Amino acid sequence: MANKRDYYEVLNVSRDADQDEIKKAYRKLARKYHPDVNPGDKESEAKFKEVKEAYDVLSDPAKREHYDRYGHQDEAYQGFGGFGGGGFGDFASGFEDIFDSFFGGGFSGRRSAQSNAPRRGADLRYDLEISLEEAFRGKNTFIKIPRTENCPRCKGTGAKEGTEPINCDACGGTGQQQVVRNTAFGRFVSVHPCVKCGGTGRIILEKCSKCGGEGKVFAERKIEIKIPAGVDTGSKLRISGEGEAGTRGGPPGDLYIIIHVRPHKIFKRQDNNILCEVDLDFVYAALGTEIEVPTLEGKAKLRIPEGTQPGAVFRLRGKGVPSLRGFGRGDQLVKIKVGVPRRLNSRQKKILREFAEASGLKLVQPQGEKGFISRVKETLGGGK
Ligand SMILES: [Zn+2]
Ligand SMILES: [Zn+2]
Repeated sequence: MANKRDYYEVLNVSRDADQDEIKKAYRKLARKYHPDVNPGDKESEAKFKEVKEAYDVLSDPAKREHYDRYGHQDEAYQGFGGFGGGGFGDFASGFEDIFDSFFGGGFSGRRSAQSNAPRRGADLRYDLEISLEEAFRGKNTFIKIPRTENCPRCKGTGAKEGTEPINCDACGGTGQQQVVRNTAFGRFVSVHPCVKCGGTGRIILEKCSKCGGEGKVFAERKIEIKIPAGVDTGSKLRISGEGEAGTRGGPPGDLYIIIHVRPHKIFKRQDNNILCEVDLDFVYAALGTEIEVPTLEGKAKLRIPEGTQPGAVFRLRGKGVPSLRGFGRGDQLVKIKVGVPRRLNSRQKKILREFAEASGLKLVQPQGEKGFISRVKETLGGGK
């Protein structure tokens, strides 16, 4: 399955091609490489399969989206994120489609010749929620994955302990039966999955008592995962081989962990920087001071210079989130909210009036409660 060509390249369409373009491109290529048009030509057959596979994925919006995101997954998409299907039934639709255009329809039941091949197991997706602190530090944890695994008793063969599946006598173990048709266009050979063995090429005489011949059992498996420091919402961790069991000796699929970071009470994340807001009394803002601010690693000291304005942002270098790529860290950005006291005692007021005087400020409004009430009366009394 290695070195697969890009599906868009196979169909010779652009990445944003619509369904019509994809279908047109597929029909053109499928006609060219169809096995019935090129009998015995292995290269055409391979091309046809490649075209068919690309079309299967790109013509299905869900599979296409998955392919755009994850690239080649072999048969993985069939079980990933709730896609159904699998088996060889899905191969038939397009095949019939192209066949209909040759013969005007009415020829059904054509099936893939691939049903006998080992199949890779489906990928699994697991959504994991973690805190911002955990994203910052990284985390080792265990998760429980419900999945299918190769049956431990029969080792995935489906045959009773001590026995082996035997080659199907109807198809000689190929899993295929050929039907020869003579038509006006010439002699055509069509291939069907073997009825007797269901296309597997193997027959189980006595079924395994644990899995009932399926070769797979359902299991809930505890898996240790290591979340690296620096992950963010949407980060994907691929854990190779921990997906669903393969079929007929195929490798297992992969497990994808999708990270979701919970919102934090005081911190916001922006790329690898951490943002927070800090309240600061107006006196400190005016005179300057040193304050302690919370960081993801505890408290840090921050020097506030004289004359700090509301909304000023200070940078704590290297106090952000480590880069997932393994080098460097973001910063913490501290935004200053300047607070003004809601209540002042008479001494504080006196000092502030003196301050105003020293600053050349004129205090025209009457001060104190009395003044306030008289202002309210003025407003209620109508005036302007
Ligand atoms: Zn078994
Ligand atoms: Zn058979």
